[in-house]
Amino acid sequence: MQSFSELDLIEPILRAVSAENYTTPTPIQAQAIPHLLAGRDLQGCAQTGTGKTAAFALPMLQRLGANAADGKRPTAGPRRARSLILTPTRELAIQIGESFRLYGKFVGLRQTVIYGGVGQKPQVDAMARGVDVLIATPGRLLDLMEQGHVILDRVEIFVLDEADRMLDMGFIHDIRKVIKTLPQKRQTLFFSATMPPDIARLAASILKDPVEVAVNPVASTAERIDQRVLFVDRGNKRALLASLLADKTIERALVFTRTKHGANRVAEDLEKGRIPAEAIHGNKSQSARQRALENFRSGRTRILVATDIAARGIDIDGISHVINFDLPNEPESYVHRIGRTARAGTDGIAISFCDSEERAFLRDIEKLINRKVPVVTDHPYPAGQVPVAAMPADHRPPRSGRPGGNRNGGRPAQNRQGPSRQGQGRPQQGRPSNDRPAERGPAAAVRQSQNQRPSSWR
Ligand code: AMP
Repeated sequence: MQSFSELDLIEPILRAVSAENYTTPTPIQAQAIPHLLAGRDLQGCAQTGTGKTAAFALPMLQRLGANAADGKRPTAGPRRARSLILTPTRELAIQIGESFRLYGKFVGLRQTVIYGGVGQKPQVDAMARGVDVLIATPGRLLDLMEQGHVILDRVEIFVLDEADRMLDMGFIHDIRKVIKTLPQKRQTLFFSATMPPDIARLAASILKDPVEVAVNPVASTAERIDQRVLFVDRGNKRALLASLLADKTIERALVFTRTKHGANRVAEDLEKGRIPAEAIHGNKSQSARQRALENFRSGRTRILVATDIAARGIDIDGISHVINFDLPNEPESYVHRIGRTARAGTDGIAISFCDSEERAFLRDIEKLINRKVPVVTDHPYPAGQVPVAAMPADHRPPRSGRPGGNRNGGRPAQNRQGPSRQGQGRPQQGRPSNDRPAERGPAAAVRQSQNQRPSSWR
């Protein structure tokens, strides 16, 4: 598929897509859009980052924007919605809302987003006249339905987004309650990154003769991303992170921790070290989370520290690095995390810290992605060894000569002699064959270990 114009989309939608500088449909868009325009149900195995939102939003806008037999565009009626997109988190709901606004700007439909953690009045007011597109998280939606502010008996198109996450987050009963109130006659779209049996059963119970589309199965996303693991003792992780981030070529990094507390601590530590960083997680207010996201998006903060749930669905272009401060215990989360740095076909870099207790997680991850994650040994805090900073002065490797710089790239004496595990066969790092001075610091060590692909760090 070469262009959007081959997809039978109407001119106002093509214009909006072109305003976003999309030239070629992504695989899920090419596969799904024709069937969705024809009114078919769809079961999509796809995750965020594949262009999934436009895959469902464009045909929905086209169908909802079309005139009825009487030549008029149908309206929903007070408190009613003509379509519903159910999604697990408020961040995702807001992002989908934003996508509909962009893709639908020349179509002129009414839309609103409903989620918890904020006052309900603006949402109730928006629903009062009825909307064409309603994007909602399950909890607040049910709450407003129970109060009579939202009625779903006219829904023509229903999208269940990120179904696997919904179930993980315990939304199954809420989802079933919502579905019960929808009309039988409707178009249903079901998206999930994974299709374990319980998800497949849920899909089968709500879809009619669906087209099945699968793109980027979870493991293959990982193939486009440069991945590295650094073995480090737990107590040295924060120091390692700080030294890694001293490298300014890490432009915009998303750092993952396992706990909310950990996210706060890491962000505070970085701030103390004058590295602008903010944390987002479920304990922060909605407005604090939005502010942190906005600061990160605009480049005011270079580092965003997040937990898995908080980062779910974050759609920010230009994340140069994902850093796993902690490895996740679910291998799928690793793939979701690193996928943040490879949006719609671009490549990214993922660096993972792994302490002795996380080795088993690493093995599970490698099994899932079906490949070994290359190990960088050449960094200042190798596991089980005395970090350079803690060595007595007379044991330290010689200074690099750079004012205030790391000592010999921060590499400990133990590692200076031979090439690192990845470095076998490379010229000695101290003096590359092109005779330019060697790059210094742990980020450079990771970069140098990447088969000399420095451009991929930018
Ligand atoms: P999604 O999977 O919907 O979260 O989309 C991931 C990212 O890809 C978003 O930043 C979109 O703006 C972008 N995107 C979606 N479709 C295309 C396309 N056809 N060409 C380029 N970028 C796209």
